Amino acid sequence: MINLRKIPAVDEILVQTEVKDYIKKYRREFILDLIREATGELRRDLLTVDEELDRQELLQRTLRKLQTKVSQAGRGTLQKVINGTGVVLHTNMGRAPLGKPAVDYMAEMAQNYNNLELNLDEGKRGSRYWHVEEILSRLTGAEAALVVNNNAAAVMLGLNSMAEGREVIVSRGQLVEIGGAFRIPEVMKLSGARLVEVGTTNKTYISDYSDAINEETALLFAAHTSNYKIIGFSEEVELDKLAKLGKERQIPVMQDLGSGVLMDMTAWGLKDEPMVQECVASGVDIISFSGDKLLGGPQAGIIVGKKKYIEAMKKNQLLRALRVDKLTIAALEGTLVEYLMGNPEDSIPVIHMLKMGREELYRKARVLCDKLQERIGSLERVEDISLLELEDMVGGGAYPTYKLPGFGVKIGFSELHLDNLSRKLRLQNPALLSRRQDGKMLISVRTILDGDEDLLINMLAEVLQKENKRG
Ligand SMILES: *Cc1c(COP(=O)(O)O)cnc(C)c1O
Repeated sequence: MINLRKIPAVDEILVQTEVKDYIKKYRREFILDLIREATGELRRDLLTVDEELDRQELLQRTLRKLQTKVSQAGRGTLQKVINGTGVVLHTNMGRAPLGKPAVDYMAEMAQNYNNLELNLDEGKRGSRYWHVEEILSRLTGAEAALVVNNNAAAVMLGLNSMAEGREVIVSRGQLVEIGGAFRIPEVMKLSGARLVEVGTTNKTYISDYSDAINEETALLFAAHTSNYKIIGFSEEVELDKLAKLGKERQIPVMQDLGSGVLMDMTAWGLKDEPMVQECVASGVDIISFSGDKLLGGPQAGIIVGKKKYIEAMKKNQLLRALRVDKLTIAALEGTLVEYLMGNPEDSIPVIHMLKMGREELYRKARVLCDKLQERIGSLERVEDISLLELEDMVGGGAYPTYKLPGFGVKIGFSELHLDNLSRKLRLQNPALLSRRQDGKMLISVRTILDGDEDLLINMLAEVLQKENKRG
């Protein structure tokens, strides 16, 4: 309490050289706000300080706080995170990092005018929905395609366009919740369609669907149970059987596929997720999936299927509220072109990370381990650094039970609270997210992007050195 009267006044702060510079560069009122916030924080800090501090020290503390605030305000709240968790599609970390071709294309479209809604051939107004349609048709074999904000929007639009005010038949085994906010029954309600549940949690037969069909039935709906698996005695109707039933009774079939896998990944052990092409070939009328899950592109909801249903969706007023912007279209086209004629295993980060084999991961972990040894191995409180085998996850709700064999580095500390250290590393910019095992820090190398190893090592070294200085 003894220091409170020595907190610098605003006028005194305003004459400091660096503060004068801020005011030259930024809005004066904004800097004044930040000065008040900084002194307010200092006041709160000082309530618990008993030793007497001199005026100069208090001024310096205020200026340091101000500097942090100015640099934070100038950056925005999104920041880079280094993913040391080994979870490839981490919903909390923005799911799929984009590849360079997608980013370059997106930047070019962002910086310039473009033909988003312009038919260059005729010099007239065009449609934004035309852009990704042809390449999606080529890649999936579908007649038509449409892209909206995300897969939740795609499902909503599909249900609303095809079944508003009418019945939709769904298996009880597929009434999924994804990511805490997307629940099939809720989305169904919002779309205006009426849910008709058939079968049981673990078993649903084709006769359950056919028995439930009546004149109110508008759609047969299947959801891919991405994030869980029913094991033991279970049965779901295969997609081609459902498609056949729909054709016989002249009722369209829609599938919410979740992840959109466009290339065969069975050779890498990933065989549970059906490919979009296979679903189209099975005769299902409409399929929807995410752009930023296994496809490795931007957030988007991709709808492919029969032209007459897609045309109906394009005419739906709801589409105006769910539409994608030019940046999404560019990032998606930039990604899809790689599937069509590029080399997705190299140029799409998600695909590259999923493909990485033991040898490549081992080498990457060896390099990181050796560099860490050299840089922080002899620091106080670092007990041991070792290379180890671990298990990674696909994430994003896909392959919930499948573990990808991986490698990483394990760091043991002494006289250091791992919770505190992890928090400090999360508060760096870029932040580092890691795992833990038996009280040690674990960094999986699969999800560390190229060029980030050195950033990570420097960050760890700096944080530890600061920690050691504090004693
Ligand atoms: C992920 C997922 C969704 C939601 O997709 P978003 O693109 O996140 O909106 C819907 N259904 C299934 C089956 C999913 O796996």
